[in-house]
Amino acid sequence: MSAIITGFETHDVRFPTSLTGDGTDAMNTDCDYSSAYVTLFTSTDLVGHGMTFTIGRGNDIVCAAIKELAKRLVGKDTEELFANMGATWDYLNADPQLRWIGPEKGVIHIALGAVDNALWDMYARSRRKPLWKLIVDMTPEEIVNATAFRYITDALTRSEALAMLQAKAATKAEREARVREVGYPAYVTSAGWLGYSDEKVARLTREAVAAGFNHFKMKVGADRDNDLRRGKIIRSIIDDPQYLPPSASPRHSNSPELQGKNAGPTGAVLMIDANQVWDVPQAIEYVKSLEEIKPWFIEEPTAPDDILGHAAIRKALKPHGIGVATGEHAHNRIVFKQLLQAEAIDVCQIDSCRLAGVSEVLSVLLMAAKFGVPVCPHAGGVGLCEYVIHLSLIDYIVVSGTMERNVLEFVDHLHEHFLYPCSINKNGRYNVPNDADEGYSIEMHKKSIEEYEWPNGSYWVSAKAQ
Ligand SMILES: [Mg+2]
Repeated sequence: MSAIITGFETHDVRFPTSLTGDGTDAMNTDCDYSSAYVTLFTSTDLVGHGMTFTIGRGNDIVCAAIKELAKRLVGKDTEELFANMGATWDYLNADPQLRWIGPEKGVIHIALGAVDNALWDMYARSRRKPLWKLIVDMTPEEIVNATAFRYITDALTRSEALAMLQAKAATKAEREARVREVGYPAYVTSAGWLGYSDEKVARLTREAVAAGFNHFKMKVGADRDNDLRRGKIIRSIIDDPQYLPPSASPRHSNSPELQGKNAGPTGAVLMIDANQVWDVPQAIEYVKSLEEIKPWFIEEPTAPDDILGHAAIRKALKPHGIGVATGEHAHNRIVFKQLLQAEAIDVCQIDSCRLAGVSEVLSVLLMAAKFGVPVCPHAGGVGLCEYVIHLSLIDYIVVSGTMERNVLEFVDHLHEHFLYPCSINKNGRYNVPNDADEGYSIEMHKKSIEEYEWPNGSYWVSAKAQ
């Protein structure tokens, strides 16, 4: 049934995570995990929810940009928008005056992420399917039409993308059945925030091992001796079979899904994340000095725009068996294109709302598959875990066809604010979202919005009074 988009509302929602040190790393020392949230309304009951993530101040600026972009949808027919989401994405991105304040980067681009995701959420709800299922049920031609291709055809043409999707189409039902049964592999970041004490890191690591996880990430880059000490604490727990849950099946560090990941004796993998603190030569020296804790990769070693810098770091660390990962701050598909062309990354870490929504994510999933680089989405933030499970399912079922070497970030914060929170099974893997009404799983409880809306939500009013 056709509907017309009649209006929208935005909410600046901020959670006081700075009080507990959640989300702290070498660059981001006092984060209030925040959501620049948008709801699109139509002439029927159909709605669409979307958001982008920030870490506090400035979230109001993103909301202002969302309003400018969402205005462009008012009066549009939803079925016409849904019929070619790639063209819709181009339209949303093509206001010449708004383009000037990007283009395709910064506030205006993450705002587009919120709006495009809200439209995809609406599309999925209109078909009564979770977002991932809407897309995996599309034909290869429909997926290509939904993808943002501008500026990437030197790396991947529409016809190459179509051929890749067609090659995977015959076996997609098997993969869907498999992932529904076993879940999608995940890793834990929330044990290793920089603001946590050694005791808290050790306790959270033991809990994560007991919960079935076998990939763990630690924040580094503020102090080398401190990093080495914390890394050894984590290694001493994840490498020790006594902490494994009774149900754990033995993992061999030379099994195909662990090859090249510096897995320890129990098959546990450690990753480290510097959140952009270093210059290139400093990154190389610092990471070499952490070789003893055997990381699989260093994430965000330097400035996110520095494609050649990442390539130099990767080349220098290769003899030490340590890879490079990045992407949570990569502005757009063009940066990912160049990271792949320059052989700068071992792991591609898309962000669901720094990239401007599902259509641009699809272009990066397709390019990464063509270049043979696994996609392990970023999810350290509010709402991001809810979003990214959909993207990894799309990647596995219809794009790359593989998941056992991939791991999807999981942080155990703030899921209670969502109507359809993500969940993890007893083997430390994401469950498959399966509610016909959940869309892109990003709808927030009204009560949470009322409580945490900045600056007049009940939480912030009472915090100010104290
Ligand atoms: Mg990171």
